[in-house]
Amino acid sequence: MKLYNTLTKQKEDFHPVVPGEIKMYACGPTVYDLFHIGNARTFMVFDAMRRYFQYRGYKVHFVQNFTDIDDKIINKANNEGVSSEAVSEKFIKEYFIDADSLGIERADVHPKVTENIPEIIEIIKTLQVKGHAYEIDGDVYFDVDSYKDYGKLSKQNLEELQQGSRVEVDRRKKSPLDFVLWKSSKPEEPSWDSPWGKGRPGWHIECSAMAKKYLGETIDIHGGGGDLVFPHHENEVAQSEAATGKPFAKYWLHVGYLNVNNEKMSKSLGNFFTVRDIRKEFDLEVLRFFMLSAHYRNPLNFNKDLLVSSKSGLERLYHSKEHLEHLLESAENKEPGEEELQLEKRLGDYENRFVQKMDDDFNTADGISVIFDLVKDLNTNISNSSAKRIIQQGIDLLKKLTKVLGLLEKQEEVLDEEIEALIEKREEARKIKNYALADEIRDKLQDMGIELKDTPEGVQWRRIS
Ligand code: AMP
Ligand code: ZN
Repeated sequence: MKLYNTLTKQKEDFHPVVPGEIKMYACGPTVYDLFHIGNARTFMVFDAMRRYFQYRGYKVHFVQNFTDIDDKIINKANNEGVSSEAVSEKFIKEYFIDADSLGIERADVHPKVTENIPEIIEIIKTLQVKGHAYEIDGDVYFDVDSYKDYGKLSKQNLEELQQGSRVEVDRRKKSPLDFVLWKSSKPEEPSWDSPWGKGRPGWHIECSAMAKKYLGETIDIHGGGGDLVFPHHENEVAQSEAATGKPFAKYWLHVGYLNVNNEKMSKSLGNFFTVRDIRKEFDLEVLRFFMLSAHYRNPLNFNKDLLVSSKSGLERLYHSKEHLEHLLESAENKEPGEEELQLEKRLGDYENRFVQKMDDDFNTADGISVIFDLVKDLNTNISNSSAKRIIQQGIDLLKKLTKVLGLLEKQEEVLDEEIEALIEKREEARKIKNYALADEIRDKLQDMGIELKDTPEGVQWRRIS
């Protein structure tokens, strides 16, 4: 498998540090508002990568943090007269509502900054002891000149940067590039005790501390949107490697920017969409399909017309799956004919082609084209006289490949009447002591996402997940 590594600026063969296992960290949202479709692209890309690694047989440990303390959160809390925690907790809940609807699976851990303050303080202390950090009036800065590799990720020209306007000027700093690790707190701001007095962490240090705590000192993959390469990720590398003396991340993956109508998305231009805005008009699976139809590293232009064509593309896939399922219901268990045996052989070729595309730096765009080729072949060559085995294999492959991309996973809504009829059947089975059948029905309901509870008042049920 080949991945484009921002660190080396080339596609490289992928070999995780421990064969068969992948430690992967992606920068998550700052939880002060609903997340927008640009954020969604990045979160979705890492979800698809994780699914693909799993499909390829890797054990993936995936961490995505929540930045739950930051100026924007504090400002919002002050404006609304509530605590920062109330703001961040609300938007963490909202994050999961949208992420779930986008088919983004939960990370193994979603650590919050506020729950990792001791680890953050520890790493800053280490940097200070090793001479990579210095304190001024309760603020602690990273000393960029003390770390010889600074700039290696973003390949920035440090001299230009030092003179440039992109770096805030603070006369107390040794170099304009030095960045804050710990900020002394203003009165009424949330703060934590530290060796440097009351304060809170700067932004970059949180990811170094959390990646180390949950994944270890050297991880395989670190990612985020392309806007994070500098300064966020550059600073992360510097802090982590200066603190541990070991390489931080082997592969750095960055997602291309999402623009709207060929312009940078911004509230002032009126072209800003949250995921929640899109949800009012489209099923969010359409947004997922749209985004994965492009290569993750390319910039992606969004507009509603493009989403309308994605909707019809996705519908074609759903129709094909439903049509095959319908054929399967009445299909005969017979030996496949010669043409069907050829189709059976071609199925393996489609899967190989899909893998070839995805192995090439996650080319989901071409991966989706292979799925469409498969669907076309199935639609043309499977009919109501096809052998059951072949139809089943066609459906299984379609589901297997689309699952890797998190598509076509929607379960059809199970109706209440259907559930109640099954519960009644189970009760009858129990009356005649046919417990095997009763258990079978309970398991079937479980598969349909329905949990049963036997109570003195009778059987109660609820939808799980
Ligand atoms: P934030 O909450 O702004 O820290 O962003 C969370 C993630 O979304 C980061 O990985 C950002 O790089 C990414 N991101 C922000 N805006 C965009 C965009 N327009 N296109 C793609 N990714 C983005
Ligand atoms: Zn980060």
